[in-house]
Amino acid sequence: MKEEISYEEIKEIFTEYLKKHHHRKTPERYAILQRIYSYEGHFNADILYNIMQSDYRVSLATVYNTLELLQECRLIIKHQLGGQFAQYEKAFGNTTHHHLICSHCGKVKEFSDKQIRVAIQSRQFAHFQMSHYSLYLFGLCSKCKDELKHAK
Ligand SMILES: [Zn+2]
Ligand SMILES: [Zn+2]
Repeated sequence: MKEEISYEEIKEIFTEYLKKHHHRKTPERYAILQRIYSYEGHFNADILYNIMQSDYRVSLATVYNTLELLQECRLIIKHQLGGQFAQYEKAFGNTTHHHLICSHCGKVKEFSDKQIRVAIQSRQFAHFQMSHYSLYLFGLCSKCKDELKHAK
């Protein structure tokens, strides 16, 4: 599963990526990276932008642009799960978890399950070494289920 990796190593990956692709190493980009890595769970660009206002003011354009870069160097994972906004989470430092996705509003909830973990870890695949995995379960959240029921 995902190995422990220090924040210094995370920063190093980002620096290497920026250098290689001739992007500027701005303090804003590092401030966003740091904020993401101290955040637990999923977020979207708006949530991140609002959080940033309290410690390091950046523009929404910088947030979007940095999310793009971080996704390209695989430091964050983008979940495109329907719903209006893409959701993100850090790629390292998360424990294995799965996602319950509301097909109506796009809300994501996380869960862990020991039996699933044991079942998947005991599987051997020929010519394939698994690094990590995640399951996506689709359905309706309780709020949408209620709303849809009352809309009838
Ligand atoms: Zn919903
Ligand atoms: Zn997640």
